[in-house]
Amino acid sequence: EALSNKIAAGEVVERPASVVKELVENAIDANSTIVEIELEEAGLSRIRIIDNGDGILPDDVETAFKRHATSKIKDESDLFRIRTLGFRGEALPSIASVSRFELKSSTGDGAGKRIVLEGGAVKELEPASSRKGTDITVSDLFYNTPARLKYMKTIHTELGNITDVANRLALAHPEVSFRLIHNDRKLLHTTGNGDVLQVLAAIYGINIAKKMIPVQGSSLDFTVKGFIALPEITRASRSYISTMVNGRFIKNYPLANSILDGYHTLLPIGRYPIALLSLEMDPILVDVNVHPSKMEVRLSKEQELNQLVAETIKNSFKTREL
Ligand code: ADP
Ligand code: MG
Repeated sequence: EALSNKIAAGEVVERPASVVKELVENAIDANSTIVEIELEEAGLSRIRIIDNGDGILPDDVETAFKRHATSKIKDESDLFRIRTLGFRGEALPSIASVSRFELKSSTGDGAGKRIVLEGGAVKELEPASSRKGTDITVSDLFYNTPARLKYMKTIHTELGNITDVANRLALAHPEVSFRLIHNDRKLLHTTGNGDVLQVLAAIYGINIAKKMIPVQGSSLDFTVKGFIALPEITRASRSYISTMVNGRFIKNYPLANSILDGYHTLLPIGRYPIALLSLEMDPILVDVNVHPSKMEVRLSKEQELNQLVAETIKNSFKTREL
């Protein structure tokens, strides 16, 4: 099993940002309202994630590191039907197999439990504090997989990837307060008051958030809502266009194009908007098989969708002018 965990780790745990993503998604699945992420060396030497969620029962702590020991009901046939974010029960065993892993957790009623693993092997298991929630420290990521470690990019790049992950999770969960700290420097802080615009302000700054206008529209099969920056605010790349489908961040080139269509002639050549669009649709219209890990999806009824998105954006600029 140790070997298969390490193999699975190659797929689930590509870099520090994947660890952050999996662990924060677990925290969200556990109904946390506060999630704190502390990093050292862009997570390569240390990633600590503290949440105030449901916690894990003492007797279940060791089991959580067994493969496929998920406590969540799963239907892998359609990722988008699953309400919880995690799936397959692979994250904890995979991450633990390529790091030194410490977890303290309690459900808040009675004592909690602390477990320490090294390269996936349990080293310590003992009672711990009863503070409700989970506190995880992942140290020396990839210390036992030198090939993977060599493949890591600069601190700057790895930190950028983590920031992207944290920003997205914060945007998708404005009801959760997130704090991201790197080497004692605060990179993100959201209040968790449920206001997406507040999260946009935390990410892009208040001056940009002030220039973002709400958009909303619907057609037979889709509803779309979100915030888009006025055309006077532009960026040199498409990477500031964020799109979600049924609560998950996705990548879909035609969809990004239809957002650009909505701006029509308002954008200078080579400039792109800042936008956050959230789509709701029947999961049957979403094909996730294109590239699951990169969250690339194919959407049905593309024409209807493109028209809706472009029109909704166009209209929101028009209404604003009046
Ligand atoms: P999955 O998320 O697919 O269930 P994971 O390996 O990510 O698999 O986690 C295994 C199990 O450990 C989860 O099903 C959950 O019961 C428990 N768990 C992990 N992280 C947390 C957390 N932060 N709070 C509460 N329970 C957790
Ligand atoms: Mg998980």
